Amino acid sequence: ATDNGGSADSCRVRVAVRLRPNNSEDLAHGSDFDSCVELQPESKRLKLKKNNWSCESYKFDEVFSENASQKRVYEVVAKPVVESVLEGYNGTVMAYGQTGTGKTYTVGRLGKDDPSERGIMVRALEHILSSMSFETDRVAISYLQLYLESVQDLLAPEKTNIPIVEDAKTGEVSLPGAAIVEIKDLEHVFHLLQIGEANRHAANTKMNTESSRSHAILIIHLQRSSRIKEEKSSLSNDMHDIFPDDLPLVLKSKLLIVDLAGSERIDKSGSEGHMIEEAKFINLSLTSLGKCINALAENSPHIPTRDSKLTRIFRDSFGGTARTSLVVTIGPSSRHYSETSSTIMFGQRAM
Ligand code: ADP
Ligand code: MG
Repeated sequence: ATDNGGSADSCRVRVAVRLRPNNSEDLAHGSDFDSCVELQPESKRLKLKKNNWSCESYKFDEVFSENASQKRVYEVVAKPVVESVLEGYNGTVMAYGQTGTGKTYTVGRLGKDDPSERGIMVRALEHILSSMSFETDRVAISYLQLYLESVQDLLAPEKTNIPIVEDAKTGEVSLPGAAIVEIKDLEHVFHLLQIGEANRHAANTKMNTESSRSHAILIIHLQRSSRIKEEKSSLSNDMHDIFPDDLPLVLKSKLLIVDLAGSERIDKSGSEGHMIEEAKFINLSLTSLGKCINALAENSPHIPTRDSKLTRIFRDSFGGTARTSLVVTIGPSSRHYSETSSTIMFGQRAM
């Protein structure tokens, strides 16, 4: 993510930080609320204060203050990725951070009655619905949860342990059995996302875990034939002979929008067995995500996606022509200095 403008390749991973406003918990810890974060939006820098003597400064592609609107976050973080998905490329947008710092607010907030509140998932689908031709294009979604290395369908919760399959020829990743529901309008989007949210909640209650322990993954599947028709009809007749009829008639692309599990270190000393398993798997998937993002940032030809299910799902939406955006969310309170610091380091390694 260099800031030299340039081609898609020169900014493989775009990384932004978003600071959540103070909440009642922050303020409950004394009237002398102590913030460890200071933003410098003009220079896109963030200062992290460890104590009165030690302070580090970090540069990002963007830093969002507690006053940044959902609209602005969408425009900076997600819109360029959505635009490239509309052009036929794959893309990934994800939120990383400690539980309670605003990942779900940033990506998953519905804002049904108040459009200004809408998060990235809804805005991306609004954007796509308004950009496509209903005669020739189709958009569909899958909505999944990944918990303990098991993929579950949030639109059809009876489907668990969904396999992740990679086509040996095309490299295309699919999740056979997962529902793919065609979207007609925004009402339908709200309806499906609400079902997904309710199922996520129900599944977590049943498993006696918290949603902060699982990854929620929205996959938007786009199929466009209009663009190819446009391109073909703009060619002169003799060019038609050069572009024979086996020119693909449908442009297929995919956008992944991911609300990652909380990045906080989980206490592995928990007495219950599933907590230990949880800690192991969440650490595995976020660590292997970190390795992939590092490799992307370094322009490495090899992105090590094999190590976890999370990164195997991302395999065809990472690197190559695919665009990736990461928003890391943090809270202001110095009580969470060490989690905030490790979140910021995760973001820095992606640049
Ligand atoms: P996470 O998904 O990271 O655990 P949430 O998105 O659930 O965190 O956010 C925790 C709380 O803080 C929620 O009540 C949410 O509405 C609120 N919140 C988070 N970010 C913001 C923001 N930028 N502006 C206003 N409220 C926010
Ligand atoms: Mg959340």
